[in-house]
Amino acid sequence: MSAWDYSLLWKEALNQIQKEVGEQEFSMWFNLEYIESTETIITVSVPSSFYKDQVKQKYQNFIEDKLFELVGKKLAIDFAITQKKANDQKTTAKKESSDIKIPDSFKAQQDAPKKVHTKHPQLRSDYTFDNFVVGDNNSFAANAAQAISKNVGSVYNPFLIYGGVGLGKTHLMQSIGNSIWVSNDKAKIICITGEEFTNEFIQSIHDKNPIAFKNKYRYADVLLIDDIHFLQDKPGIQEELFYTFNALYDNHKQMVFTCDRPVSELKSLSDRLRSRFERGLNIDLQPPNYETRFAILKHKVEAKSYFIPDEVIDIIAKNITSNVRDLEAALLKIFAYAELVKQEITLEVAQAQLKDIFTQPKQGNVTMDVIIKTVAEYFNLSNNEMKGKKKTKAVAFPRQVAMYITRDITEYSTTEVGIEFGGRDHTTVMHACQKIEEKLKSDPVLTATIQKLKRQIKEQSTKN
Ligand code: ADP
Ligand code: MG
Repeated sequence: MSAWDYSLLWKEALNQIQKEVGEQEFSMWFNLEYIESTETIITVSVPSSFYKDQVKQKYQNFIEDKLFELVGKKLAIDFAITQKKANDQKTTAKKESSDIKIPDSFKAQQDAPKKVHTKHPQLRSDYTFDNFVVGDNNSFAANAAQAISKNVGSVYNPFLIYGGVGLGKTHLMQSIGNSIWVSNDKAKIICITGEEFTNEFIQSIHDKNPIAFKNKYRYADVLLIDDIHFLQDKPGIQEELFYTFNALYDNHKQMVFTCDRPVSELKSLSDRLRSRFERGLNIDLQPPNYETRFAILKHKVEAKSYFIPDEVIDIIAKNITSNVRDLEAALLKIFAYAELVKQEITLEVAQAQLKDIFTQPKQGNVTMDVIIKTVAEYFNLSNNEMKGKKKTKAVAFPRQVAMYITRDITEYSTTEVGIEFGGRDHTTVMHACQKIEEKLKSDPVLTATIQKLKRQIKEQSTKN
């Protein structure tokens, strides 16, 4: 298989395009099947030269922008005219492209194994694809994970999942491990955190037995390392992982990593290791939207024997927007209460029980000062400029970003934010937030910038 297989990316691009252009337009103009790719060009099929000219003219830029949005680098699209065979296969379609089968439903993941499987010692048995609810925020990553577990070492290697806490990185990574384990319990699967990996390495040096450590990792079939951000500022272990990486990569062994931020933002990471991480597929997990939050809660309720009415699930999904771990915490509280008092969980009971969780400030210790300072520094402005009267774009935009972040991660009202930002009216703050929200919908670079700023602000705030 060629090193550049963008078939999954193409599928995801089509998914998103379908939502944007609508059913009719989509079925008319996006009958474009993936054929093959190089590092920078994706070739897809078109049925005729007429169709090709039309699609090129109407949609080439649109499609290329979409691809850019998804992978963060420029990919060109090339159209190849193909005739349909009787069996509906494209004549020029590469044989390998059928290797990747993305199932419609995660439920249909594996042929139900008849054999009873022992649990893998390092994997949580409940971290499976079956238990992972797929929504807009994670479908790209979940599909890739699924493809990897069916094409171990050959489709996306390494696969790196990144994103904030509690969004399902560990769950998804271990699902790959469990899925491989179910189909082949001879596979040597190692699942470890960056921290454990580091400690083991240090111990092996201390015990004067580094060979055992090297052998353990370099002969793995599947290596899953969680939270690799732990390796920042640790050149020794980075070097070790670099060699392990090369050994596994050369032998087509699958590697999966998770990280709390994009690799490009890891601090003090050797360039050569960074480039290794970036070599395969890097996908982020976003916080789930309301529908997905609801679906996740519903899934977790159904796994228990309690009855929890939908209206209770609804208020939890509405009030807790941060991440899945927080959703689970709220649900656990309800379960615990139900068990204890053996009382039916009504909306009133749930509201009373969850009052504290719902009213907790989102980021108790974040002050506007820290936000203003962090954003100002990032854009190379002074705090005074952020609060001042100047309306040039170079100042107005960072100011809007800071206002948006303040509203997003603190409990300050628009009035309070306005006062702090040089005595502005609360409608100005609202307007700023709307503008940024609008921009975020189509600007992945801004999304990444804001995530980075939020992380810095949080780091700053926990230090104080
Ligand atoms: P992270 O590693 O990103 O911090 P975890 O994988 O530990 O997050 O997920 C936190 C909790 O949320 C886990 O209990 C996990 O099972 C659950 N979870 C996360 N995403 C989903 C999802 N899409 N569907 C079901 N459960 C999820
Ligand atoms: Mg984790």
